[in-house]
Amino acid sequence: MFTSEVRSSTGSWNAVSMLEEHGLCEADYTRVTGYADAMADPGGNPIAILGMPMRGNRESLGRNHCDCCQAELPEHASTMELVPTKQAYRRGSRTHRDGALRRLRLCRQCLNWWRLTISDPSAMLGEGFREFEGASGGWINPGHGDAVCYALRTRDEAILATTMEIDGKRLRCVEYPGPLAPGEIAFVGTGKKDRAGTFVRSLDLAARSRVALVTQPDQLADAAAALQLGAREMLASPVSPQQLVGAFVRAGRPNANRRDADTGLVILGAPAPGLGLSCVAFSVRARNPMHVLELALSARRFLRGYDEVGSDGRGGLAIHVYCDLEFKPQITARLRLLMGKGTDVVPGADAA
Ligand SMILES: [Zn+2]
Repeated sequence: MFTSEVRSSTGSWNAVSMLEEHGLCEADYTRVTGYADAMADPGGNPIAILGMPMRGNRESLGRNHCDCCQAELPEHASTMELVPTKQAYRRGSRTHRDGALRRLRLCRQCLNWWRLTISDPSAMLGEGFREFEGASGGWINPGHGDAVCYALRTRDEAILATTMEIDGKRLRCVEYPGPLAPGEIAFVGTGKKDRAGTFVRSLDLAARSRVALVTQPDQLADAAAALQLGAREMLASPVSPQQLVGAFVRAGRPNANRRDADTGLVILGAPAPGLGLSCVAFSVRARNPMHVLELALSARRFLRGYDEVGSDGRGGLAIHVYCDLEFKPQITARLRLLMGKGTDVVPGADAA
């Protein structure tokens, strides 16, 4: 059950409306509570799902932080309750619920992750058939250059290190901003106080298009500043190897100079086939323009790493999905679910 909430003047959270309710079978319920427990205790019982939100450490940061990723919450949040419905007789209690109850307060990113996971678990369980991606781990990887790592969270840094090692490339971890060698891409963690902005400012203008920001939902101000200074794009923390490889592919593309004035996102041109696949374009309009960068981060997390997220040049998002054209209706439906209320997802031109 998902409920939306608003913070009151005293700091407590008040329920506003119920968003969605799902009935889960026993096996799904057990699986989903397992995810919730793994997120809350990263050292306890790791579940290898890329992209699953995860706390950086075991302690809860309190009611003003997301229970899944520990991002600081704005005035609005949502609560997910996992409530067992099966009642079993226990001595002393006639209404004992059989199974564990979980209650998590979520940021918008994590809410989206949970809503998609619960409404369509096939991708998480590896049952979704993705024709072009080959066997598990065999996604499109056209080869890439070396990487620089700056201020990434431990888990993101580990994923970057493993990806570079497997692909036989060099990773240079730096503690201070500094120039990039030819061909290198810098993966830069955003922060609360101009962390990524400082890194990007230290580079000459040409090198800035070889910076990929790695961002959490409470670091969007730093991300927007770094994008406006010329960083190429924003990836979603926790990163996936696909997102990292995709950043190399996009850094090799021209036309990163046209930027949206508010978000700093690269304005995408007309869709063109790439990686041997057709390209489908979508435009996403948010009724609240403050949400555009947040939606960009959600889209980045859920699309495949080689798809592209940018600006449509008119205040909305442009999304280019590389796929077979027959999948367009399913992708449209899933994007609408992901982007949620207060947004319009408009399918645009195709390029076969
Ligand atoms: Zn979160």
